[in-house]
Amino acid sequence: MKILVTGGAGFIGSHICERLLEDGHRVICVDNFITGNRENISHLTQKKAFTLIEADASLSTDQYLSDVSHVDAVFHLASPASPRGYQDAPIETYRINSFGTHHLLEFAKEKQAKFLFASTSEVYGDPLEHPQKETYWGNVNPLGARACYDESKRFGEMATSVFHREFDLNVRIVRIFNTYGPRMDPRDGRVIPNFVTQALNNQPMTVYGDGTQTRSFCYVSDLVNGIVQAMELPATRGEVFNLGTTNEYRMIDLAKKIKDVVGSSSEIVFDDLPEDDPVRRKPDITKAKRVLGWKPTVPFNEGLRLTIDYFKTIG
Ligand code: NAD
Ligand code: UDP
Repeated sequence: MKILVTGGAGFIGSHICERLLEDGHRVICVDNFITGNRENISHLTQKKAFTLIEADASLSTDQYLSDVSHVDAVFHLASPASPRGYQDAPIETYRINSFGTHHLLEFAKEKQAKFLFASTSEVYGDPLEHPQKETYWGNVNPLGARACYDESKRFGEMATSVFHREFDLNVRIVRIFNTYGPRMDPRDGRVIPNFVTQALNNQPMTVYGDGTQTRSFCYVSDLVNGIVQAMELPATRGEVFNLGTTNEYRMIDLAKKIKDVVGSSSEIVFDDLPEDDPVRRKPDITKAKRVLGWKPTVPFNEGLRLTIDYFKTIG
């Protein structure tokens, strides 16, 4: 198959491109490198089956895909994803998730291609329901610092579901929960890159707030399996899936754990809690297990070890 991956030079996107090439597909990666990294795809650019188009995917596709006569599937992953990344570029963020999603849906419709929208656990905002099921509508502040991301992802979900309803386009949505692994950007401010980098350098590890807020972390290879299954299986048409793990950690405990695994002498310090930082986050993955036959398999200690090794090599 010929497959378009937007955001293919990013952390998750580069692993998706790699996996699709391994599976024998031809891959067109679209990226404007706003938060991506050329190094993430440097091992792919020489491959005949891989094409990179450097472009802003929030534009109409005739401005950058006019030479592409057909594709079978579109994985739409382009978007800044870390709180620092999207708060530094709020307009670019809402453009790619709203206009970009709309234009790519039009493109998929024209090419009769399958479509997958990479959404986020942030559509649940600061959730009042725990764990979060796909049926929960969320608790998002539309005016807050995270709104450019949260609300535009919600718009992207809406647009994707409208194309399904109006045109019977073959779509699915995945709500990705916190994912980690090699190729995360050490400077994007997310908690795992921050803690690992700080621990490796024996610098203070910065826990925000009192550290009792929770997140559940999924290793990237598990996530990629879930995303690929969600695209491939016929039963996913028109459906939405949470993808993540149910191993919920408090940030203070995560700091201690990473400090231990690294064998660091870092001191753990406390800093201000960012605005609208969700208090608890853990997916209910019953639906993904049932429909996709998917569950995460990489133990947290193993994933952390692989991630720490990566940060050592780029260190
Ligand atoms: P990332 O920043 O590493 O990758 C995103 C990629 O999209 C980057 O390469 C960036 O340059 C590219 N991009 C952004 N705007 C673009 C535009 N207008 N045109 C072309 N390319 C553009 O982030 P990631 O962690 O790999 O996230 C990938 C997707 O998964 C995002 O849609 C994100 O919202 C979603 N997601 C990620 C997580 C996570 O924990 N990593 C959690 C929830 C959702
Ligand atoms: N966090 C932290 N220290 C850091 C970076 C983040 O305590 O150096 C916290 C942050 O406040 C949040 C959690 O870790 O509660 C996850 O943050 P991240 O930016 O990775 O992702 P989020 O899930 O908030 O989008």
